[in-house]
Amino acid sequence: MTDETITSRGTVTIATARCKGCELCIPACPPQVLAMSNAVNELGLRYPELTPGCTGCGACLLVCPDFVFAVYQFETPVEHEGSG
Ligand code: SF4
Ligand code: SF4
Repeated sequence: MTDETITSRGTVTIATARCKGCELCIPACPPQVLAMSNAVNELGLRYPELTPGCTGCGACLLVCPDFVFAVYQFETPVEHEGSG
């Protein structure tokens, strides 16, 4: 019910230089916490950026053809205060 606090149970690293901008990861993320950047990488391609709420599920890692993601699960979930 609260939209003031978002919990992250994991996180990802995003090797943006390897991303080819296919956007497969965006709909694959169950909590929809990946969004394509406005900026571009060295190849001139947009790449995903993480917003709070990752569960560490690994779906992005599985779907990405270019091994852009590494996935980590937190032992203790992290609470993010809503920023409005
Ligand atoms: S699936 Fe991989 S290559 Fe495609 S946009 Fe996402 S990070 Fe980039
Ligand atoms: S690990 Fe799961 S929740 Fe986190 S960004 Fe990837 S698909 Fe989304």
